[in-house]
Amino acid sequence: MLRRLSEQNQILKLSINKSVSLKKAHFVGPVPNELASRGVKGQYSEMVEEDIVVGTSHFDQQSFRMDLPEEESDSDQDADETDQSCNIGESLRNWALTFGVSLVALTALLGLLRLHHPDLPKDARTLPSLRLRSHITLKKNEKLHQAFESFENGCTFKLQINIDGLPLFKSSGIQVWPILGCLLGFPIKEPVVIALFCGPQKPKPAEDFVSELKELESGIDFEGKMIFVKLDSVICDTPARAFVKKNIKSHNGYFGCDKCAQQGEYLSSRMTFPLDSCPLRTDESFAQKQNEEHHQGPNPFQGLNVGMVSQFPGDYMHSVCLGVVRKLLNIWLRGALKFRLPSSTVNRMSDCLTGLRSYIPLEFARKPRILRDLDRWKATEFRMFLLYIGPVILTSYLDKNIYQNFMLLFSSIAILLHWQYADTLLRMFVTHFGQLYGKEALVYNVHSLVHLAQDVRQHGCLNNISAFP
Ligand SMILES: [Zn+2]
Repeated sequence: MLRRLSEQNQILKLSINKSVSLKKAHFVGPVPNELASRGVKGQYSEMVEEDIVVGTSHFDQQSFRMDLPEEESDSDQDADETDQSCNIGESLRNWALTFGVSLVALTALLGLLRLHHPDLPKDARTLPSLRLRSHITLKKNEKLHQAFESFENGCTFKLQINIDGLPLFKSSGIQVWPILGCLLGFPIKEPVVIALFCGPQKPKPAEDFVSELKELESGIDFEGKMIFVKLDSVICDTPARAFVKKNIKSHNGYFGCDKCAQQGEYLSSRMTFPLDSCPLRTDESFAQKQNEEHHQGPNPFQGLNVGMVSQFPGDYMHSVCLGVVRKLLNIWLRGALKFRLPSSTVNRMSDCLTGLRSYIPLEFARKPRILRDLDRWKATEFRMFLLYIGPVILTSYLDKNIYQNFMLLFSSIAILLHWQYADTLLRMFVTHFGQLYGKEALVYNVHSLVHLAQDVRQHGCLNNISAFP
């Protein structure tokens, strides 16, 4: 997809109505005028033809247009009643999509029609699905065009990929898996949507994606200049990383750490990783499967020159902000009694947080919220708490030992964000954390901190390898 983007100097804008779920979608759109004038015909990029099922509410005609099935031959007049019901069902579905009829209304209509057509389904969700085609707006990006023009023949771009899964609806298991890409060192740091997978299950191994990466590595022709793109890093949270790598144990497994061969210990119904000296994984040891217990299948990136350890750095948004900082706050608010703060202290802390709202500069995306909303805090709020608010206010509410443990985390992450060395502090934090909260608290996210410094040494500061936009 990036190859196509660079060839045609276009930025794609994908408009998706949440009421429609795609099993798999690629970009699609008309051929741009400048290419059409050169004799290029057909679609810009074909959408993968998989069934797309209408979701829970209305269908937005402006976001998608239907690619209706071809008409049946007139000669087939002897179709049986089942076929007729099927055609009626398809016609009803088309009608509902065209006029934005809700599933509830369509189901009610089906109930009436079933008196005369008993073969029709009771529920609108079981009507035959239609093939839909997403409506994509193509927009020429002058800046992007100029940036590509300024590069010399034979230059190589580094590509950073972000993959994550997110649920679409609370009431169903439909999830979206976008693959985003960003060219490092490129004048325009705008992530580009490379592919979108959507459906009730996780996507299958991204073979199309890997084959496109191979094409990019071997070079693409941009207006007579050869441009090469190499995969630099893949940023994703721990479950997504295990999913993308496909062939490794999850972080809940005994050898689930993808950075070292530490064997986990099962304590208090969870996998823990006590701080211990153990061999670090390397790209070579991974390729040779030296730690057999860590692997469980073939490498999906086979054939690509990808370091399966070094090019999958830890992401501090997930492991630190949404992982360790959230865990700490949960321990203080809802943890074991010996760590739990009295409710009066929690209330005072909450008041303190909200009292700071008017002093938070506009550069911060969000203002502090009360602790009762902790489950709804976003990653940016945990980051603000760790780096700015926590070190100032916690000294008034926490036991000295607990506060100092928090400060070890704050200091090391603050240094890693701007500098390249905090390994000792992070190891001290993990050791102290185990002593303070017990061995059973040394779960994967806590353990993964001891590998952060190595990732920063290789990739630069934490902001370079995080999922924060
Ligand atoms: Zn490890």
